[in-house]
Amino acid sequence: MTSDTAPEPRVALVTGAASGIGAATARLFVERGHRVVAVDVDKEGLVALEELDGVATLVGDVAEEATNTAAVRLAVDRFGRLDAAVLNAGIGGAGPLESPGAIERFDRLFAVNVRSVALGIRAAVPALRAAGGGAIVATSSVSGLRGDPGTWGYNATKAAVINLVRGTAVDYAAEGIRINAVAPGGTETALTAAQVADPHFSALITGRIPAHRWASPREQAEVIWFLTSPAASYVTGVTVPVDGGLSANGGILP
Ligand code: NAD
Repeated sequence: MTSDTAPEPRVALVTGAASGIGAATARLFVERGHRVVAVDVDKEGLVALEELDGVATLVGDVAEEATNTAAVRLAVDRFGRLDAAVLNAGIGGAGPLESPGAIERFDRLFAVNVRSVALGIRAAVPALRAAGGGAIVATSSVSGLRGDPGTWGYNATKAAVINLVRGTAVDYAAEGIRINAVAPGGTETALTAAQVADPHFSALITGRIPAHRWASPREQAEVIWFLTSPAASYVTGVTVPVDGGLSANGGILP
């Protein structure tokens, strides 16, 4: 890079990119000049991203190692390098603990929400190392910081992400590979569409959030962007709540 040319495009992969926070993140990164590998199980949801310049898509299940290695390979083959990995894909709900099939659903929840992050870090690190360092951001949740009612399994997976990020951040910090997480509060996406659409439930939730509103996916994407950027060069091993103040007051009713 020379002073009279634009910065070389940087390359990111984003999982769960077909919808919600992942889609907003992929779009923000493209807007800001990155090349993006967009990964999702939802083939149709990726079509809108395929129309953007500088996006390569990959259909796959992030709970499988092959998807993660293929995503990194695609970034390197198509765009020459990898600078950032946003490990965002996730699902909700194992149902009540005593309900039939709850443990099988929990196994799947853990695979999609936690195993995928371990696999994503494992796949990304060699490419980030080859690029001279880089950043990984996983998507946890405010549910990983506390015991939200009725979502014991989801809470457990999101808490696991927080400590997975801490431990791996410590292991790779000396190589210039930073690993952080965001913990979104209620954000208007497909995951929360039913809650947002229910006026009673929505009012209950927003009544507990000091900002008194849901977040937009873009507001999550902005913090993910910051954590991957050189502006966050000394930030690693942390989880940043992006929750309108919810975790600051412990969800106490106003
Ligand atoms: P979303 O449902 O809009 O998007 C999630 C995306 O992940 C979807 O496109 C889905 O197809 C994809 N996905 C699911 N399982 C996958 C798999 N096995 N392999 C590949 N892709 C898969 O939901 P969202 O709200 O944007 O969720 C993104 C992340 O944010 C999740 O990890 C979620 O737990 C977390 N989160 C969301 C909220 C919220 O209020 N929306 C709050 C806290 C945390």
